[in-house]
Amino acid sequence: MNIILMGPPGAGKGTQAKILEDARGLKQLSTGDMLRAEISGETPLGLKVKAIMDSGSLVSDEIVIEMISNRIDQPDCVEGFILDGFPRTVAQAEALDKMLHAKGKDLNAIIQLVVDEAALLARIERRAVETGGARADDNAETLKKRLDAYKAQTAPIVPYYEGQGRLKKVDGMAAVNIVTEQIADILDGAAKIA
Ligand code: AMP
Repeated sequence: MNIILMGPPGAGKGTQAKILEDARGLKQLSTGDMLRAEISGETPLGLKVKAIMDSGSLVSDEIVIEMISNRIDQPDCVEGFILDGFPRTVAQAEALDKMLHAKGKDLNAIIQLVVDEAALLARIERRAVETGGARADDNAETLKKRLDAYKAQTAPIVPYYEGQGRLKKVDGMAAVNIVTEQIADILDGAAKIA
């Protein structure tokens, strides 16, 4: 089963992806985590993207598309994967559709975590405290830039998938376990159809 979890920064995509990994044996593929690993490893790619990520802007479509295309071919994705933070532009969504088609794969569910923007700042501030400031982009100033990037570049994916009749929405403001239940209901419905 292959899933996309969509939503702005702080919506809870990573939290729900980890729960799904444990519950359903799927692999969480977070482009943000992959890029942060490149930065920690001081690879040429990491050096290239560090300033862009620290500023809250998006890295280029080509970089993340290639990253995901290679990643989903790995053996640990055979049972399925959860895309967390990808696609983030309509160009990425289109490339994903083409890439999956070429690989003979498909998406079983595209789920949007709908959240109240005012609550996001509080969530991100909490995450910054909990992770000891591990993420350079978890601060009020950069969050604003990341939300702007979400609205301008990522939100247009919503009508893209709605147009295909494939988008399901869940209330991302509910308690974590309730969000998990809403997602489970969608996936169990999708499994029956598939
Ligand atoms: P995240 O951990 O998903 O919040 O991503 C952190 C940062 O990584 C973003 O602000 C972007 O700079 C970069 N990034 C992650 N995924 C993507 C993507 N699909 N497209 C472009 N940039 C991305």
